[in-house]
Amino acid sequence: MLPEEIAAWLTENGEKKFRAGQIFHWLTAGVRDFSEMSDLSKPLRDKLAEHFFLTPPTVLREQRSARDGTVKYLWRLADGNAVESVLMRYSYGDSACISTQVGCRMGCAFCASTGMGLVRNLLPSEMLDQLRCIELAAGVKLSHVVLMGIGEPLDNFENVMRFLELVNRPEGMNLGMRHISLSTCGLTEGIDKLASYRLQCTLSVSLHAPDDETRNQIMPANRSRGVAELMRACRDYYEKTGRRISFEYALIRGVNDSPEQAKLLAGLVKPLGGHVNLIPLNEVEGSPLHPGDAKAFAARLKELGVNVTVRRRLGTDIDAACGQLRRKQATGNK
Ligand code: SAH
Repeated sequence: MLPEEIAAWLTENGEKKFRAGQIFHWLTAGVRDFSEMSDLSKPLRDKLAEHFFLTPPTVLREQRSARDGTVKYLWRLADGNAVESVLMRYSYGDSACISTQVGCRMGCAFCASTGMGLVRNLLPSEMLDQLRCIELAAGVKLSHVVLMGIGEPLDNFENVMRFLELVNRPEGMNLGMRHISLSTCGLTEGIDKLASYRLQCTLSVSLHAPDDETRNQIMPANRSRGVAELMRACRDYYEKTGRRISFEYALIRGVNDSPEQAKLLAGLVKPLGGHVNLIPLNEVEGSPLHPGDAKAFAARLKELGVNVTVRRRLGTDIDAACGQLRRKQATGNK
């Protein structure tokens, strides 16, 4: 709840409105129980416990990379479901990658999160809890957040928007919109809706193929709208928000790494001043898809005048890629 919503509830229930600030502060600090809100009276704490519930997750598994300090968390949610978050330590600050859904229904062929389908949406509080619990567990102050864990953020639109508002609040975590990235597989209606809010967060579009034939094959969500309509939504987003879009492109050998596809990709992103983030594909156990040569593809794109980087891989020794821990948990593999 936002501070003003807490205040409204307090007023309706015969309590002093200014307590809302204290309560919001305690929630931001990550208390696990109302009894920890030590500057509130006992009767008020009891009343809160009667009407509300706090459901912080517990750690099911924690893996630390010996190479680069990346920490991956598998959380157990209050209803027994599990989701993942990753803490990444960059020179510019500590960044968390969090999940937005339990599972995913987008069906991307290369992704470890989608095999078991969508179980449910995460609540705004469950997204916030991932941040707070990382801060408490690792003793860090997060400066950046990416919505790039399990799930499709634009398939859980209302909850994600409320999360963004909460995390952005100066009385709360006070994270600037420019320090938040939202990654989508390209749901055009969602991009249009997001554009209408004119937020300053960074939009990452997981493009992964510049032609409908390939994209339909590896990203079934493409089948209803297609690449041209996706690029139309991206152009509108850029025009409305003034924010350049980052295009994610995971190189899959023999699927999306041909010279023709590099040319098509350049033709799509250059007019938008977009940036291409090449990701060497993370191999998922049992998958027939294998990584392509990111360096060679990057060189080709550069020649074509595209603004391109190859994503530095963190946590490769700890399965830090999307969905891998939850998948192992669910399939009983170690
Ligand atoms: N649903 C959102 C966010 C979650 S996926 C989206 O599609 O963007 C986060 C990113 O990881 C996306 O760019 C996704 O395409 C990419 N990804 C998923 N599986 C991958 C894999 N095996 N190797 C490399 N990138 C992968």
